[in-house]
Amino acid sequence: MAIALITGGGSGIGAATGTLMAENGDTVILADINVEAADNVAAAIVASGGKAESAALDVRDGRAFAALVDRVVADHGRIDLIFNNAGIGVGGPIEDLTAEHWQRIVDVNIMGVVNGIRAAYPHMIRQGDGHIVNTASLAGLVPSPMLAPYAMTKHAVVGLSLSLRPEAARHGVRVTALCPGPTETPILDSKGPEGLPPNDVFSARDLLMKATGEIYPVEDLAAELVAGIAANKSYIVAPRRARMAWWIHRLVPAVVEKNAIRLVSWAVREAERLDTSRA
Ligand code: NAD
Repeated sequence: MAIALITGGGSGIGAATGTLMAENGDTVILADINVEAADNVAAAIVASGGKAESAALDVRDGRAFAALVDRVVADHGRIDLIFNNAGIGVGGPIEDLTAEHWQRIVDVNIMGVVNGIRAAYPHMIRQGDGHIVNTASLAGLVPSPMLAPYAMTKHAVVGLSLSLRPEAARHGVRVTALCPGPTETPILDSKGPEGLPPNDVFSARDLLMKATGEIYPVEDLAAELVAGIAANKSYIVAPRRARMAWWIHRLVPAVVEKNAIRLVSWAVREAERLDTSRA
């Protein structure tokens, strides 16, 4: 049975994945900046007979990340899987964003993943085995207007994962990029990172619903993820509608661009409507 460390394990995709893996008999360590949330998920898993621990971690802190992974290896003898899953959303028209918005999302969504790889990969090389699962997004594969900072970081995670995969293969280490379409988790209702001017121009949930017409249940995504890991997929793009969007973008990018322009018009109208209703 595997030993798995999941960042962002206190909520959404991380919590659902941890819960499912624990049901399958794996031991999960749920790490989150919101340690109370991770405590609650771990306690629920343990209460239903599974093996789970929680840990406080800010993925931006490379030293703390390495110390946590070292502790997991000291306690359990190995680390089989790391899910670099913690992430935040930053959206809104680019002209409204500050330098701090860009820096924050790079620090969490890109450097958080890099820190996880730097912490776990040396152990996996030594073990001659392991699996690194990086959560990107459908926004890492197709244009995502009004979510440009988010899309930028997720494209970086896809590039990092696809490039590391062939490198890591010679050490027996597998690498997967998870690219979900809109999935039912609290991130859809986020107005952006704490302490920075919020995006109250439109709701991310409404934008994504408009773009894709579907919000995927998180338990279904966790099931596809676990199956995709077992099959050692390089990408897991889910649900089907997200896979179709990715295919259409590769086959006929002009169609996707037209839709993206329509989406921007919707967001602008929505912003004007909200402005008028506030006035
Ligand atoms: P979520 O908000 O439910 O969970 C994110 C978790 O990450 C939270 O528990 C949060 O406390 C934690 N976190 C945030 N910053 C952190 C930090 N610096 N250090 C440690 N933990 C931190 O959202 P989610 O949808 O479950 O998001 C998980 C991942 O999935 C993210 O990378 C997100 O970008 C990605 N994703 C989500 C969707 C979606 O529609 N829900 C789609 C594609 C990709």
